[in-house]
Amino acid sequence: MITCKKVQELLSDYLDDDLKEAVCENVQKHLKDCPDCMIHVDSVKKVIRLYREATDTSMPVDIQIRLHDVLKKAREESEEETT
Ligand SMILES: [Zn+2]
Repeated sequence: MITCKKVQELLSDYLDDDLKEAVCENVQKHLKDCPDCMIHVDSVKKVIRLYREATDTSMPVDIQIRLHDVLKKAREESEEETT
Protein backbone atom coordinates (compact mmCIF):
# COMPACT_ATOMS: atom_id res chain seq x y z
CA MET A 1 0.00 0.00 0.00
CA ILE A 2 1.36 3.42 -0.92
CA THR A 3 1.04 6.46 1.32
CA CYS A 4 -1.02 9.64 0.87
CA LYS A 5 2.21 11.58 0.41
CA LYS A 6 3.27 9.25 -2.40
CA VAL A 7 -0.11 9.62 -4.10
CA GLN A 8 0.32 13.39 -4.11
CA GLU A 9 3.83 13.08 -5.52
CA LEU A 10 2.54 10.84 -8.31
CA LEU A 11 -0.59 12.85 -8.95
CA SER A 12 0.43 14.86 -12.00
CA ASP A 13 1.88 11.78 -13.69
CA TYR A 14 -1.20 9.79 -12.71
CA LEU A 15 -3.54 12.37 -14.24
CA ASP A 16 -1.41 12.47 -17.40
CA ASP A 17 -1.46 8.65 -17.67
CA ASP A 18 2.33 8.72 -17.42
CA LEU A 19 2.59 6.10 -14.69
CA LYS A 20 3.56 2.50 -15.21
CA GLU A 21 0.50 0.27 -15.07
CA ALA A 22 1.49 -1.29 -11.74
CA VAL A 23 2.05 2.09 -10.11
CA CYS A 24 -1.20 3.40 -11.54
CA GLU A 25 -3.05 0.43 -10.04
CA ASN A 26 -1.50 1.17 -6.65
CA VAL A 27 -2.72 4.76 -6.83
CA GLN A 28 -6.21 3.62 -7.80
CA LYS A 29 -6.26 1.10 -4.95
CA HIS A 30 -5.21 3.81 -2.52
CA LEU A 31 -7.93 6.16 -3.80
CA LYS A 32 -10.58 3.48 -3.24
CA ASP A 33 -9.60 3.19 0.41
CA CYS A 34 -8.80 6.84 1.09
CA PRO A 35 -11.65 9.36 0.71
CA ASP A 36 -9.30 12.25 1.51
CA CYS A 37 -7.07 11.53 -1.47
CA MET A 38 -10.10 10.79 -3.66
CA ILE A 39 -11.49 14.27 -2.93
CA HIS A 40 -8.08 15.81 -3.55
CA VAL A 41 -7.68 14.03 -6.90
CA ASP A 42 -11.20 15.04 -7.92
CA SER A 43 -10.58 18.70 -7.21
CA VAL A 44 -7.24 18.66 -9.05
CA LYS A 45 -8.94 16.98 -12.01
CA LYS A 46 -11.54 19.75 -12.08
CA VAL A 47 -8.86 22.48 -12.02
CA ILE A 48 -6.96 20.78 -14.85
CA ARG A 49 -10.11 20.44 -16.93
CA LEU A 50 -10.98 24.12 -16.43
CA TYR A 51 -7.41 25.12 -17.23
CA ARG A 52 -7.40 23.04 -20.41
CA GLU A 53 -10.72 24.48 -21.54
CA ALA A 54 -9.48 28.00 -20.86
CA THR A 55 -6.14 27.57 -22.62
CA ASP A 56 -7.31 25.09 -25.28
CA THR A 57 -4.19 22.96 -24.98
CA SER A 58 -3.43 19.35 -24.15
CA MET A 59 0.03 19.87 -22.72
CA PRO A 60 1.15 17.74 -19.77
CA VAL A 61 -0.06 19.19 -16.49
CA ASP A 62 3.35 19.90 -15.00
CA ILE A 63 4.45 21.73 -18.16
CA GLN A 64 1.28 23.80 -18.10
CA ILE A 65 1.93 24.76 -14.50
CA ARG A 66 5.57 25.61 -15.27
CA LEU A 67 4.59 27.59 -18.37
CA HIS A 68 1.99 29.46 -16.37
CA ASP A 69 4.66 30.44 -13.83
CA VAL A 70 7.10 31.52 -16.57
CA LEU A 71 4.47 33.65 -18.30
CA LYS A 72 3.44 35.20 -15.02
CA LYS A 73 7.04 36.03 -14.16
CA ALA A 74 7.70 37.45 -17.64
CA ARG A 75 4.60 39.62 -17.37
CA GLU A 76 5.63 40.89 -13.96
CA GLU A 77 9.12 41.70 -15.23
CA SER A 78 7.87 43.57 -18.29
CA GLU A 79 5.49 45.55 -16.10
CA GLU A 80 8.41 46.54 -13.93
CA GLU A 81 10.35 47.77 -16.97
CA THR A 82 7.55 49.92 -18.33
CA THR A 83 6.74 51.67 -15.06
ZN1 LIG B 1 -4.61 8.91 0.97
